[in-house]
Amino acid sequence: MPSRLERLCIEKGLKMTDQRRIIARVLSEAQDHPDVELLHKRASQVDPGISLATVYRTVRLFEEASILERHDFGDGRARYEEAKDDHHDHLIDIQSGRVIEFTNEQIEKLQKGVAAELGYRLVGHRLELYAVPIDKDGTAQNATGSETGTTRAKRSMPAGGGEK
Ligand SMILES: [Zn+2]
Repeated sequence: MPSRLERLCIEKGLKMTDQRRIIARVLSEAQDHPDVELLHKRASQVDPGISLATVYRTVRLFEEASILERHDFGDGRARYEEAKDDHHDHLIDIQSGRVIEFTNEQIEKLQKGVAAELGYRLVGHRLELYAVPIDKDGTAQNATGSETGTTRAKRSMPAGGGEK
């Protein structure tokens, strides 16, 4: 069965090689925000013949086709995730590199208001929060701990270095 990303590639008219198909699948299955090296590591477990250069070219192609989102979480490494319809923002734990996805209705509303005040209709935004854990003993590492008010943490994953 083709992965979601592979179906999108076909819809966009991209020529699909076996290697592109594997990279698309690895991206579709990722629950985190892997960088190119981690993607390469995962893809070469399926096909050891996939080169790092191919992964670079393929993510660039997917990004240009707007089916992949590139993030910069402040450490100079580009990270990728499937472009999906449901919007979320990111909080980056700068100590552990953990990336927490969240949505906050107040922030969304506020941003629309700011744009409107400036005479614009908001069509998109990017928001990254850089943070350190509040508890000094490090026990409050659970993402569900931040589920207060209208902020909903979606899931919590290491930012890509977890499998080294
Ligand atoms: Zn994300």
